[in-house]
Amino acid sequence: MAWRMGMRRIFLAAALALLPAWFSMSPATSQAAGAAEPVVASDARLAGDGERTRLVIDLSRSVPLGAFTLADPYRVVVDIPDVIFALPDSAGQEGRGLVAAYRFGLFAPGKARIVLDVTDPVTVDKAFVLEPMDDQPARLVIDLVKTDRATFLQAVAAPLRATEQPEMPQAEAAAAGDHRPVIVLDPGHGGIDPGAVNPKFSVTEKHLVLTIARQLERRLAQTGRYRVLLTRTKDTYISLGQRVRFARDNGARLFISLHADSLGSRDGDVRGATIYTLSDRASDAESQRLADAENKADMIAGLDLSEEPADVAGILFDLAQRETRNFSALFARSLAGSVSGVARMHKSPLKAAGFKVLKAPDVPSVLFELGYLSSAKDLELMTSAAWQASVTEAMVVAIEAYFAAQGPVEGTPVALPASVGRTSGDPLAATGP
Ligand SMILES: [Zn+2]
Repeated sequence: MAWRMGMRRIFLAAALALLPAWFSMSPATSQAAGAAEPVVASDARLAGDGERTRLVIDLSRSVPLGAFTLADPYRVVVDIPDVIFALPDSAGQEGRGLVAAYRFGLFAPGKARIVLDVTDPVTVDKAFVLEPMDDQPARLVIDLVKTDRATFLQAVAAPLRATEQPEMPQAEAAAAGDHRPVIVLDPGHGGIDPGAVNPKFSVTEKHLVLTIARQLERRLAQTGRYRVLLTRTKDTYISLGQRVRFARDNGARLFISLHADSLGSRDGDVRGATIYTLSDRASDAESQRLADAENKADMIAGLDLSEEPADVAGILFDLAQRETRNFSALFARSLAGSVSGVARMHKSPLKAAGFKVLKAPDVPSVLFELGYLSSAKDLELMTSAAWQASVTEAMVVAIEAYFAAQGPVEGTPVALPASVGRTSGDPLAATGP
């Protein structure tokens, strides 16, 4: 907290030092200079009560904004250009009035988002950014007023929906003649969705899993045997449907989603790695809880869940899915075997549940929960370079064994009927404009 305050003071001093320069510039040059400077959000506060609540965020300069509402659960989404959030750690965690909590972060390249969970149906009465004045920074102001559900639902139908999908990750096409199998690594969460958090040590799942995915990417690249693609390479949000589609569009032969769990303060003794495959029925209550938590990512990021297609079903997929599941289970066992040599495993390390991100019908997929951020021992290990290196190595061993067992690598192990193409009619094409 102390350094944050210090940062803010330094930042203000820097901004004040720039003031004469701003005044002497023509509007055009000041805009150009402003565009190069990242906008910084330095503080945030809530005021008001259960009838009317105001959120104010201090910004280094004015930005355009868009605000809209989403139902079930009730949310208010504020979209702004890319902003560096230098807010206190506690920002957004405690609610007031109509706001239960809020989150903020990168939603898509160049686009930041603030998502407010609201306790009741609300109307966005005002949403604007005040220009900086005297010693006051620019301020983003959102005024929410309590309303009834019918009024709220009418507002939700506004045409802003079309703009709310994050950008799809783009992969470079394979070079001609490159028939190496594609492995898609999927660092969970990102941007506005931090995933599990250990507030005491300021460790977030989204950063941890990205670090490990990048290490694994480097090690797999060294073998020269695979094309390795990541669903995200930075701290940005990617929807669950997009992750699945990315793997399918790139003809992935294996999809590994990386995560870390947390039980909060409930049980600091539970620890160890777990490997999940897809199942309609969860192995146990704990697996169900985890799948529910992981599947909330799109809700957390302010996506409209009402437009999500129904789960993939139907006879055409059955055969391919069964084969895919067999391959997924095969790899999960290989991975558990390999990782158990170097890392502590959960007491039942192979489980299954209905994770949305594992639903590609033609890509063998596993979700690897590295451990628990809520366990002090797991946390220490997962953030250590030695543990990361040995677990990454164990994953490489499992991947090598998995592909070696399949013989020469050509084509895909699972063939879908021709009528189920990777086309725009794809029922899994959950998202995207
Ligand atoms: Zn996760």
